[in-house]
Amino acid sequence: MIWNRLGSRTSQKNKGILSLMALLTLSVAVGCNQSNTDIGETSEQTPQAQEAAATEKVKVVATILPTYLFTKAVAGDAADVSILVPPTTDVHDYQSTPDDVKTISTASILVKNGLGLEEFLDNTIKNAENPNLVKIDASKGIQTLDEISPVDKTVTEHSHGHSHGHSHGHSHGHSHGHGHSHDDGNPHVWLDPVLAKQQVTNIRDGLSAADPANKATYEANAAAYIQQLDNLDQEFQQTLQKTPNCTFITFHDAFPYLAQRYNLKQVAVVQIPEDQLSPADVQRAVNAVKKYNAKALFSEPGVDNKLLTSLAQDLNVTVRNLDSLETAGGDTNPQYYFQAMRTNLQTLEAGCK
Ligand SMILES: [Zn+2]
Repeated sequence: MIWNRLGSRTSQKNKGILSLMALLTLSVAVGCNQSNTDIGETSEQTPQAQEAAATEKVKVVATILPTYLFTKAVAGDAADVSILVPPTTDVHDYQSTPDDVKTISTASILVKNGLGLEEFLDNTIKNAENPNLVKIDASKGIQTLDEISPVDKTVTEHSHGHSHGHSHGHSHGHSHGHGHSHDDGNPHVWLDPVLAKQQVTNIRDGLSAADPANKATYEANAAAYIQQLDNLDQEFQQTLQKTPNCTFITFHDAFPYLAQRYNLKQVAVVQIPEDQLSPADVQRAVNAVKKYNAKALFSEPGVDNKLLTSLAQDLNVTVRNLDSLETAGGDTNPQYYFQAMRTNLQTLEAGCK
């Protein structure tokens, strides 16, 4: 797994084991400095003890980028965390590979976002035949929303109740089929900083139970990250209370938790194809903005908005990108969460003004 050691430590005090790590990471792309996340590391150990511990690090695999970021934040350097779904890939369309099966077969712990997001996972786990695998569901205990946006056939291609797998069968061969099974609720809980805290807590408790030797480290790391999430929550509250009930439309049903938390209104979700917007897609988006008198229209990174931008000009709406953090072009530093969410906050503030 080339993602295996992305974001490995770079701080000076770890020189003793850097040579060891270098051996393990010969093929890893470097350049992801995250020395600022080495919080709570046990520095009292002798270099020998550290080296011994390093060789026995528990192997953790996290499924998608947000789950990986939270897991990496909690684990710090105490565990060896890798990501299963490459952060350049859309999990909604993900098909697992033989490498994924191999990764799970040799891991001790698997952390998933849950809520039905990782549709590929059950089969992959089955094929991995790893009876000792400890599974952590990061969304355990979270009260989910089905869908907050109205299912409006005039603006959506189909309802949001379908599972991801089924969405491919609809008119757009490669639609952003972000519907989710009703049983599980909407899985995009990480986009609410308060629910993100609960995910971090679940991950902390799961890692601590499975690897009690590092419990103190996991607790300290989680506390530091939760403090940052609290700060982020405060920023969202303070900024978005200036624009209460701001109505917006998205192309991806990823923001109902964020909307509910900060008193925004996701009034509709317009289904679009993944690669390029057709004039009909643009027309549906424009119709939705008119119909719901929406203040803001949020697209997402990777969508070509040119056509939309030009047609939306006379609507007094600007098209902006909100990031669901499901793909991040390979940035796997736990601090990326805060960077992306602060960018989202700026986007919401500008769109709702
Ligand atoms: Zn999604």
